[in-house]
Amino acid sequence: MKGLMMDCPLTVTSLMRHVNAQHGASEVYSLTVENPAHRSTYAEIFKRCAQLANALRRLGLNRGDRVATLAWNDYRHMELYYGVSCMGGVLHTVNPRLFPEQLQYIVNHAEDRYLFADPLLLPLLEKMHEAFPAVERYVLLCGKDALPESSVPGLISYEELIEGEDERYDWPELDENTASSMCYTSGTTGNPKGVLYSHRSTVLHTYASGLSDAINLRSADVVLPVVPMFHANAWGVVYCAPMVGAKLVLPGPRAGDPEALVAMMNSERVDVALGVPTVWLGLLNYLDASGRRLETVRNLVVGGAACPRSMMVDFQARYGISVCHAWGMTEMSPLGSVNAPTAGSAKLDDKALLAQRLTQGRAPYGVEMRLTDDDGNELPRDGKAVGRLQVRGPWVARRYYRAEESALKDGWFDTGDVASIDSNGFMNITDRTKDLIKSGGEWISSIELEDVAMTHPAVSEAAVIATPHEKWTERPLLIVCLKEGASAEADELIAWFEGKVARWWIPDGVRFADELPHTATGKVSKLKLREQFIAGGAAAS
Ligand code: ADP
Repeated sequence: MKGLMMDCPLTVTSLMRHVNAQHGASEVYSLTVENPAHRSTYAEIFKRCAQLANALRRLGLNRGDRVATLAWNDYRHMELYYGVSCMGGVLHTVNPRLFPEQLQYIVNHAEDRYLFADPLLLPLLEKMHEAFPAVERYVLLCGKDALPESSVPGLISYEELIEGEDERYDWPELDENTASSMCYTSGTTGNPKGVLYSHRSTVLHTYASGLSDAINLRSADVVLPVVPMFHANAWGVVYCAPMVGAKLVLPGPRAGDPEALVAMMNSERVDVALGVPTVWLGLLNYLDASGRRLETVRNLVVGGAACPRSMMVDFQARYGISVCHAWGMTEMSPLGSVNAPTAGSAKLDDKALLAQRLTQGRAPYGVEMRLTDDDGNELPRDGKAVGRLQVRGPWVARRYYRAEESALKDGWFDTGDVASIDSNGFMNITDRTKDLIKSGGEWISSIELEDVAMTHPAVSEAAVIATPHEKWTERPLLIVCLKEGASAEADELIAWFEGKVARWWIPDGVRFADELPHTATGKVSKLKLREQFIAGGAAAS
């Protein structure tokens, strides 16, 4: 027997309708190159989405066509998020920090017909546009007066494009499985791979990410996604904040500037901010050096790479700010787990509670997780067994864009992460499969070693990579970046590990770097470190 309830498709359009009806007056504050403090509301943004949709229809956009963005977090980018998806197009957010060859591959593989770019990225566009034969129209995200002379053919400003268009659009009733947006993973091996989200997967992900034990957003909150809108949907915040009516603060091109972030967080009364560890480390160093404080922030969500222990402890101890650890990946829209306490957490002593809070947390309903060994046998959830982390659920990719084969094995997506899960569901990542260090047949966790190194007072950032070793196959090598004005000798850093990890885990060597290389998504690039320190002959002995 079938249920007798309404069949309402789960679409971004229905989300937009809801936000208009319930939270139209909630504010969106954003920085752009032209305008240091732009204020609008969701209702105003949606009117401009309609103008954008009318303009794109005039340009000939068909259902399913891809519209690329090379843009920071600001209100125009948000208009593209909703306007393109709701008219039946596919918003393709492109990471401007990728190498030119990767950009060329991605834009051509997606066959983007239109490309919207931030004015700061015009030099990149001028260099690259000839490599994008399928792109018919370039639009610069600025007003008419701010549009510079350029060699990009037919370049127009966003404001000129939408000017005079009707503020209403007859949004189509889309099937909920229609593609809404896409994002390529940076692909550490091989070519980048396109993840194609649907309206349904986006809406379900939005519901789950707002839950109290997830990002925990409320209508009265002010939310700052420092995580870019070109990377995994800014972790879904651009959908979730409007859904609950929270105010959005969008940092535009200033996301990497701690001084600007602190100013924005205090003046706009930000409650929740989200970003990768590198961003929060920069902020912590800035707070320490400047003596400034964050006046209203109650929760810093950190994900994209493991949260260093010292960062969680220091934010709490020095600034009274709780750091919440989350894990996800582009293929998961991206939310996979968030660390929120259970009833049992209150019974833990301080040390055990910190250990629990440092795990990547628990999966919300909608994400199933399991661990397997290399032969595919399922491992117990006892907090000890370590294996391949596999996931499945309605916002997990099953196939990459234009790929012939499924991305799944036995119905599960292999994350490439190595983890344990305890009996309460707390998942702890020890490494990525390709970053593991195999010494004498046993695995060493680079994340745990990095964590210990970063508790040393002189260390600002640390990474551990495997170096080849004749007897042990591989041994860990520590690469550190010291805090400004601080000094530490290699011996002292090695001694720091004693008593904190098993003796055979202690790195064999230390190398100092002025800064660590980061990937286009802000994570420490172990690939580059390996090239730099191992191919260069600096292997530990
Ligand atoms: P890219 O590699 O393009 O940056 P993703 O953002 O999708 O792509 O990367 C996802 C990966 O990032 C995960 O598989 C995991 O290895 C790592 N990651 C994300 N969050 C965390 C976290 N909290 N702790 C450890 N690793 C994380």
